[in-house]
Amino acid sequence: MPFLILSEIWTIKKAISLEPELWHALQKRQFRLYYQPRICLNTQRIIGAEALIRWEHPIHGMIPPDEFIPLSEKTGLIVPIGYWVVEQVGYDMQILKAAGLPEHIGVNLSFRQFQDGYLASTIERLIAQYHIDTRQLEFELTETALFRDEPHVVYCMESLSQLGAEFSLDDFGTGYSSFAMLQKLPISTLKIDKSFVAGIGQSEGDEEIVRSIISLARNLKKKVIAEGVETKEQLDFLTAHNCSMAQGYYFSRPIPLERFVELLHDPAWCPNL
Ligand code: C2E
Ligand code: CA
Ligand code: CA
Repeated sequence: MPFLILSEIWTIKKAISLEPELWHALQKRQFRLYYQPRICLNTQRIIGAEALIRWEHPIHGMIPPDEFIPLSEKTGLIVPIGYWVVEQVGYDMQILKAAGLPEHIGVNLSFRQFQDGYLASTIERLIAQYHIDTRQLEFELTETALFRDEPHVVYCMESLSQLGAEFSLDDFGTGYSSFAMLQKLPISTLKIDKSFVAGIGQSEGDEEIVRSIISLARNLKKKVIAEGVETKEQLDFLTAHNCSMAQGYYFSRPIPLERFVELLHDPAWCPNL
C-alpha cells in the first residue's frame, strides 16, 4: 500500500514537472515518430504502419506517450503536437512510399484535437503544403472522440474523407459505437482492441468478441486490424477467423523510420509468420 501511494505521488510530481517542458520540447523538436508495421495476413507482407509519438527527453531519455499525451490533452498542447505529427508523417510518407509501403499510415487523433475548430482546415492546409498523399493517410480515432461533439466530428471526418483520407476506429469494442454511427460516418477500418486479442486462448468471452468484430467488419464491408498480437496462438486464431491485418510485438515493436525502411527493403524479413 505505501508503495502504491508513493508511486502515485511520483506520477503526479512527474506530470507537473513535465508540463512547462512540453512546449519547449515542441519548439526544440524533441518529439520523434516511431512506426509499427501492419501485416497483411494473406500476403504475409508489411501493408501499412501506425505512427506513434515518443519524446526524446535530453535528461529523462525516451518518454512513452502514455506519460505525456494525457497531460498534453489536459493543457491543450495536443493540438499543436498533433499538427506536428501530421507534418512529420507527411515527410516520412514520401520515404516510406519510395521504399514500397503499399497502403496506409495511421495517425492517432485524440478527442481533444477535435475541440479545435480549425482541425479540418489546418490539416487540409498541411496536406497541401507538404504534398501529402491522402490515399495513404488514415486517422485513427477512438469511440470516445465520436461522442464528444458529434456534429463537429462528423464535419471534420467528412471534409477529410472528401480529400481522400480514411478513418479507422481504434480500441474497437471498448466504447459505445452504435451500428447507426458505424454506417453514418466515413469509417473504413475497425481496430480490434488489444485487450480482446490478449484474451485469445485465455477467455472464451474475448474470443467470441474477436470473432464477432471480424464478422461485423465483414458484414459492414469494412477492413479489420487486430492490434496487440504477441503470440503465435493469437495469430493462428486470427488467421483461422479470416482477420485480414494485424499488428503487434509478435511481428515488430514500433521502430524508428530508418529501421522501418530497412524492413521494407529486406526481402528476407519474415514477420514471424
Ligand atoms: P494506441 O493508439 O492504442 O496505440 C497502440 C499502443 O500499443 C502503442 O503504445 C503500441 O506501442 C502498443 N503496442 C503495439 N503492439 C503491442 C503489443 O503487441 N503488445 C502490447 N502490450 N502493446 C502493443 P504507445 O506507442 O506507448 O502509445 C500509447 C498510446 O498513446 C496510443 O495508443 C495512443 O492512444 C497514444 N498516442 C501515441 N502516439 C500518438 C499521437 O501521435 N497522437 C495522439 N493523439 N496519441 C498518440
Ligand atoms: Ca492507435
Ligand atoms: Ca489501440
